[in-house]
Amino acid sequence: MDLNSLIKDEFRLTEEVKRGLKKLKLETVRDILYYFPSRYSDLSEIKLIKDLIPGETSTIYGKIIKAKTKKGFRSKIGVGEAEIEDLSGKIKITWFNQAYMAKMVHVGQNVKLTGRVTSGKNGVYLANPEMEKTIDIPIDSRKTLFEKEKKENNFRYPIYAETRGLTSKWLYHAIEKIFKSGILQDLDDYIHEEIIKKYNLPSLKSALTWVHIPKNENDALSARKRFAFEEVFFIQLERQRMKAEYKKNKSFKIEVDKKDIDEFVSRFPFKPTASQNKAIEQINEDLVKTHPMARLLEGDVGSGKTAVAATISYAIIKNRPLKLLPSKSSGDQPSADLAERQTFGNLQVAYMAPTEILASQHFESFIQNFKHLNINIGLLTGSTCKKFPSKVSPDGWTTISRPQLLKWVENGEIPILIGTHTLIQKSVKFKNLALAIIDEQHRFGTEQRSKLIRKDGIAPHLLSMTATPIPRTLALTVYGDLDLTLLDEMPHGRKQIITEIITPEKREQTYDEIKLELKKGRQLYVICPRIDEPDPEKELALNVKSVTAEAKRLKKEIFQKEEIGILHSKMSKDKKEEVMKDFSEGNIDILCATSVVEVGVNVPNATIIIIEGAERFGLAQLHQLRGRVIRSEHQAYCYVFADTKTQRSLDRLKALKTAKNGFELSELDLSLRGAGELSGKKQWGISDLGMEAIKNLKMVEAARLEATELIKKDFDLKKYPKLKQIIGERKSDIHFE
Ligand code: ADP
Ligand code: MG
Repeated sequence: MDLNSLIKDEFRLTEEVKRGLKKLKLETVRDILYYFPSRYSDLSEIKLIKDLIPGETSTIYGKIIKAKTKKGFRSKIGVGEAEIEDLSGKIKITWFNQAYMAKMVHVGQNVKLTGRVTSGKNGVYLANPEMEKTIDIPIDSRKTLFEKEKKENNFRYPIYAETRGLTSKWLYHAIEKIFKSGILQDLDDYIHEEIIKKYNLPSLKSALTWVHIPKNENDALSARKRFAFEEVFFIQLERQRMKAEYKKNKSFKIEVDKKDIDEFVSRFPFKPTASQNKAIEQINEDLVKTHPMARLLEGDVGSGKTAVAATISYAIIKNRPLKLLPSKSSGDQPSADLAERQTFGNLQVAYMAPTEILASQHFESFIQNFKHLNINIGLLTGSTCKKFPSKVSPDGWTTISRPQLLKWVENGEIPILIGTHTLIQKSVKFKNLALAIIDEQHRFGTEQRSKLIRKDGIAPHLLSMTATPIPRTLALTVYGDLDLTLLDEMPHGRKQIITEIITPEKREQTYDEIKLELKKGRQLYVICPRIDEPDPEKELALNVKSVTAEAKRLKKEIFQKEEIGILHSKMSKDKKEEVMKDFSEGNIDILCATSVVEVGVNVPNATIIIIEGAERFGLAQLHQLRGRVIRSEHQAYCYVFADTKTQRSLDRLKALKTAKNGFELSELDLSLRGAGELSGKKQWGISDLGMEAIKNLKMVEAARLEATELIKKDFDLKKYPKLKQIIGERKSDIHFE
């Protein structure tokens, strides 16, 4: 047996286990070895039903013997009821307001429940427990895997994320067999000893043993620390390499005249914040260097990233392109060594927005910022091509054909091109692209970056901008290839947004308050988690409001006099734009929408936002949605409508009120989440274990430091072949948002 041996060749597998393995994508012995327990349980955690004490929160294992749903007598709210037994007794379970929970189990099924033991009119029951379906009950009177160990004092058995057909018990046995084969004996560590020693990490051999079958808590922790560290270290190595690689390119030499910049900035209808000034300065320092910038500008919604982007764009287009002189090395390509400039033309800026709506808004605001300069600005999206200024009316734009626009971009007559992701399609060729700005959501992966590099080796400066507040440790890791600039200050004079968490009984009163604001002429967003009325069969979805149904309900029951529009991703682009236009012109008072309005939409008069089903959104997303209404000098309100009654989710939502800014909120969110809820895998390609490292600033900084040093010393990892191999294998796993 070796690491690459197939599980199916080494083990006798039932069909069920095969299916389970397939679902978890476990194929080889290595896969199993690296499928770490999500936690460890010591046997004292589990209570027998006969030992339960009212008032305590306890965990029990047992078999479902009854399950049904009913409506509450007066409240008409669904209640789920079940009964469970273990070998010591039975107990009732009640799920108030979560009737569907009872539908998710069937009689005969084994479950693990954690909930509050409650003494009620009809006896003792477990109230709204969290439930995990299990295939086995680990502790019962039969002989169990843990029988022997149970007698030993400290034994902690591993609990793996299970799937149907594949139990912790099966995995435990498999691991045992793998260990017995002696496979660990000839395993070389891919992390070099210097690092292992410096940070006091266990060797690969020890770590693999301890992570699965720890003798004590410390061993388990130290093994997990090692794997958490290595995951972040690998990501850092890859990112630092990518960073170093891009910086090897040349860039257009940019000359920045401070006076020019000041003059441009003075035209804004506001005084820039200290943060904005600092960001502009920092970026300008990057621009005058001879290698391209790769920087991330992170700033809360409304912190004024667009103004920074416009100022930097101005610094770029003030510069003339290089003279087209034949260089020695590359034939008739312009040579970057010769900084001699043309006396005509401009360098070019590409500004990419995530949606057409946003691209149009940036186009309009750039026209305001640049119209005194008499330069062309283009807009290129999937459905429109526009050019400013129009020949007929020099104050406005005109629609032109796509080929025409592309031609002007290619011959350099359009210094600023704004658009959606269409901007980096092959058909779009720039003459002298010197700066690429990406607003929200997307990032330039290695591939996109390499497409932007000109044949003569000149690469544009990159400025990524994001309002998604993520914890600093996460930013340092996933954006390790970028330098970081923070806009951590809001423009002056903005009123704090008033955020309220609204539980169902306060709904009516809240609508009344909102009506008063609407009477004053303000506008309202209503955000719903779904587009259409859910399939009534699907109980789980029933509680989730849909845009179309909610718009109808509001019109009929609450806001009879107001105009209500709807907006969601399934509408055509024209329709969406029409609705947004109606909303921004005030023809619509209330916009009922999905989270499509999340990103950057700007309607200053809309000062109120209702978020329905708030517990379904992440805190960061809620924060971004709320950002829609901090665009004006009027007092803004955010009403977070929550159906949840659990203290934990209410506490989570309350963080929206207490956190000072998005960054603080994201840190809070991270710390509030427990193991298994970190969801780093989906969003960032980081495992739950890796996310544990992300919670630890020291570990992240160490991994970053070591990776940076290593890349500096040995860019191609020539002396570290095993590391190199792993980075290569991991590459496909690493996400680029
Ligand atoms: P975001 O960072 O979310 O992209 P925007 O750039 O869209 O924010 O700016 C939000 C609003 O704030 C815009 O209307 C912009 O004109 C305005 N703004 C930007 N900077 C300032 C400032 N320093 N003072 C006042 N208003 C500002
Ligand atoms: Mg923006």
